Amino acid sequence: MAAQAAEGAVVTAFRSVLRRVHQAAERSGRPYERVRVVAVSKTKPISLIRQLYDAGHRCFGENYVQEFIEKAPQLPEDIEWHFIGHLQSNKAKVLLAAVPNLDMVEGVDNEKIANHLDRAVANIGRKPLRVLVQVNTSGEASKSGVDPSGCIELARHVKLECPNLEFSGLMTIGMADYSSTPENFRTLLNCRTQVCKALGITEQLCELSMGMSGDFEQAIEKGSTNVRIGSTIFGPREYPKKDK
Ligand SMILES: *Cc1c(COP(=O)(O)O)cnc(C)c1O
Repeated sequence: MAAQAAEGAVVTAFRSVLRRVHQAAERSGRPYERVRVVAVSKTKPISLIRQLYDAGHRCFGENYVQEFIEKAPQLPEDIEWHFIGHLQSNKAKVLLAAVPNLDMVEGVDNEKIANHLDRAVANIGRKPLRVLVQVNTSGEASKSGVDPSGCIELARHVKLECPNLEFSGLMTIGMADYSSTPENFRTLLNCRTQVCKALGITEQLCELSMGMSGDFEQAIEKGSTNVRIGSTIFGPREYPKKDK
């Protein structure tokens, strides 16, 4: 009974998130189809992911490699998986091998990991992998991501030196307490302007992944094309067994 209630709650929470996403997209003057919702399912069981899948959602995000490669093969192949956050370069190969339906890596923050992913894609012979360059917009040493001053160089490396990767845009996490959210978003927007100018691409072709449970509406209003939402959909990660 409790488990069933929790599962129903996830779909309800998801629908509420979607409504808020649609409203925020409208406020930003864009159709809601231009904003992708990545349901961040890390630490959550297969059964809950299934519930959202059965409700029609297809895009999910994970960020622990070991957990990811155990869960993904147990779920339908038409899920569009995103790896979010920092990836260790020595995990690129195992990740690509275990998750053939990996749609995007949100979190390339150095050339080494880009090169490892590029090689892993080539070895497997799958279609090019979409990647976002992760930018550390909050300046915290503990956060991964390239410094904003290095985003052009890394984006250029991905675009020009990694034929099996598709440079798709920029991603940021920001501060855990959301205290510097507007500045972080502004910094990522500035990075996009610079990257697009330097690489000669239109902003339409450079996604912005910003916005999580606590700030996704603000992020969409500022132009985010990809929000990564975990706890607002699935409940707090510390208490996975509780109903609320
Ligand atoms: C866990 C995680 C999220 C989701 O965080 P919530 O606050 O639960 O929505 C988003 N992005 C990254 C990189 C994460 O690791």
